Amino acid sequence: MGCIFCGIISGDIPSQKIYETETVLAFKDIDPKAPFHAVIIPKAHIKSAMEITGENSPVIAEIFEAAAKIATDENLAGGFRLVNNCGADGGQTVDHFHIHMLAGRVLAWPPG
Ligand code: 5GP
Ligand code: ZN
Repeated sequence: MGCIFCGIISGDIPSQKIYETETVLAFKDIDPKAPFHAVIIPKAHIKSAMEITGENSPVIAEIFEAAAKIATDENLAGGFRLVNNCGADGGQTVDHFHIHMLAGRVLAWPPG
């Protein structure tokens, strides 16, 4: 079975892209959990946070850099939350590493 997020990167699956570099892509989540909900992904297919290594970790830093730029572009002055769900217990449903960027309301802590 193909990877949904690799399909979004290639353009085979349509998405609302909000930020893109050579190595990183951000797009609106199809099922938003907050007034603003984007997903930021590496263009390289990294399955989960369990697969981050010394070799592929520079792109993870670029994802955080992307989040700061998106926060400015989207006027998220009230703040935001970055979330990574990893594995079954972590609630990961798409096996391509991603960071959720949530904003636009006060977010509960701790999460469920
Ligand atoms: P996870 O549950 O793995 O942490 O997050 C996967 C996220 O991808 C979910 O929030 C889900 O709504 C989103 N998602 C799944 N399929 C698609 C899709 O085809 N397009 C977009 N834009 N988001 C998707
Ligand atoms: Zn993928």
